[in-house]
Amino acid sequence: MSEIQYITDLYLQEDEVLLKTRESMAQHGMPDITIPPQTAKILYLLVKMSGAQKILEVGTLAGYSGIWLARALPETGTLLTLEIKPQFAQVAAENFRLAGLQNKVQVQSGNALAVMEDLLQDNAKFDFFFFDADKLNLPKYLQLALKLAAPGAIITADNTLWKGRVYDPTSSRPTTKAVRLFNKMLAEDRRLESIIIPSGDGLSVARVKDNV
Ligand code: SAM
Repeated sequence: MSEIQYITDLYLQEDEVLLKTRESMAQHGMPDITIPPQTAKILYLLVKMSGAQKILEVGTLAGYSGIWLARALPETGTLLTLEIKPQFAQVAAENFRLAGLQNKVQVQSGNALAVMEDLLQDNAKFDFFFFDADKLNLPKYLQLALKLAAPGAIITADNTLWKGRVYDPTSSRPTTKAVRLFNKMLAEDRRLESIIIPSGDGLSVARVKDNV
């Protein structure tokens, strides 16, 4: 038995809603690129432990990670999740409905960068962010998140070890450079305290300091 199998058997049994969400992806020909369950459980616990009330997710797909995030919210909490592909957003909205989370979750179809600019104009504030979309734009998502963040907000992102390419000096693809820059920004920005948890392909977790 592997380490991850042991952890999965003990802590990560998926219920019918999550299994049906996976099925919906296959039915609609969507790519199987959800976060791994162990990363989902870490995010769930982070939302609970931080007492987050307003989450912004970038990259909805079929709502798998969103269901974990929304389930961790208190009754009054909300999740806004952004998805560029309208057909994916539609599948996700149905999955949130089946999960009984439709009152907490808003799925918005559109380019996350544009939507976040609009949110900024509306003076919106969030206390939890999860980035899991186009890695090239990670540095821009971080800059926008810092403007949209309430004091003490948590900023998270998946795939930030980028299959080891971020620490492979021979890898200089644009996406690798973007993820590397994002990691450096998290490490060096004085407003943040950060780490990468080696869960799955790397889960970045940062906290915005209270007094900035
Ligand atoms: N977080 C999801 C989960 O674990 O269930 C998986 C998200 S999948 C890795 C990335 C998603 O981001 C895709 O559905 C893709 O269409 C979406 N996406 C890519 N670029 C985007 C953008 N600029 N704005 C919004 N969504 C985007």
